[in-house]
Amino acid sequence: MSDIDYNAFFEQKVSELKDEGRYRVFMTMERIVGKFPHAVWHTENGEEKDVTIWCSNDYLGMGHHPKVIKAVQDAAAHSGAGAGGTRNISGTTIYHTQVEESLKDLHNKEAALVFSSGYVANEGALSTLAKLLPGCIVFSDSLNHASMIHGIKSSRCAKYVYQHNDLEHLEKLLSEAPKDAPKVIAFESVYSMDGDIAPIEEICDIADKYNAMTYLDEVHAVGIYGPRGGGVAEERGLMDRIDIIEGTFGKAYGLMGGFITGKASVIDAIRSYASGFIFTTSLPPAVLAGALASIEHLKTSRLERERQKRNVAYMKELFEKAELPYMKGDSHIVPLVVGDAKCCKQVTDILINQFGLYVQPINYPTVPKGTERLRLTATAAHSIEDIERLTNVLEDMWRNTHMFAYASAA
Ligand SMILES: *Cc1c(COP(=O)(O)O)cnc(C)c1O
Repeated sequence: MSDIDYNAFFEQKVSELKDEGRYRVFMTMERIVGKFPHAVWHTENGEEKDVTIWCSNDYLGMGHHPKVIKAVQDAAAHSGAGAGGTRNISGTTIYHTQVEESLKDLHNKEAALVFSSGYVANEGALSTLAKLLPGCIVFSDSLNHASMIHGIKSSRCAKYVYQHNDLEHLEKLLSEAPKDAPKVIAFESVYSMDGDIAPIEEICDIADKYNAMTYLDEVHAVGIYGPRGGGVAEERGLMDRIDIIEGTFGKAYGLMGGFITGKASVIDAIRSYASGFIFTTSLPPAVLAGALASIEHLKTSRLERERQKRNVAYMKELFEKAELPYMKGDSHIVPLVVGDAKCCKQVTDILINQFGLYVQPINYPTVPKGTERLRLTATAAHSIEDIERLTNVLEDMWRNTHMFAYASAA
């Protein structure tokens, strides 16, 4: 008989995380329509405190847009709460078809396919691609999201990781691979933890040279970049050079759900073989109606994008003046490296407890150890005053309490 103490085992696993300072504590937020980015924080001891959210992915505030909320309400009233099945077995609703049409148009592709989330879309699409193509080799950026890594892994194909955004390294790996092997380059446009953007055009040039497919995660870019919110590839006129564009409704579009778009042949194959697409209940009508309203609104409205751009630019300008050492990238994401897990948690505890500023610490394995950071996002909904207040508090903390001192002392 085994005498394993399962309970003690799991408690030990969690206490290891606590010792390293990277135990995740969820902050319970009550977002209120009309108040975002301000929200009510329900603390562990039952208090309610007003806070400003500085780490939301609802970049444009679309989760609270009246058109989106109305679409969600109308769809639920009209078609009910759930889709009633998997896509193949009674769960393909008119809402799925409409969203997929809208996405084809957004990315100027032949076909689109909706998944339960962006994570599932990456996992399903990449694992299926690499499994179907015999002897497929995937070339993956070293900072790719966990969902891409997981998809590539589960295909059990050969994988080469190239140094983040390093074109020379990517080309070297491609040139060393067997000429006739099918190849896929998997990368992101906006890297959400560093805030930098991939050299998409150059990667496409390399892909052409070695006849590789291109798979681009535009999760942090759809809705925000490009004249119609088609992402960075749209902004740079490169959508037609990407074989598969992947995105989410969960970030700038303000809801949840993921998708891919591409040639009809590829999308049909993934639709037909991807386990994570086939064997799960499809998204409810309300979510899709909201997504459709959000996507369509952002195809024509520039208001939200312009406000967000203005806010991000102002935040970077103030950080620059305050000499806050943020990571300088071209995107809307502003990371501030603290460099130590415990210190990072300490800083965010002070920010929320003393100043009502909510930023979640970003620790390993989301980012490498020693690069623990605050990841700040100025949304379209923040005001000039919100941004000034955040900067003042951070500047004071940086100057007077030496946020870095914790890191160097640790
Ligand atoms: C958030 C994220 C995903 C997953 O999208 P969800 O819709 O939240 O599941 C995929 N890729 C990247 C780069 C992400 O940051």
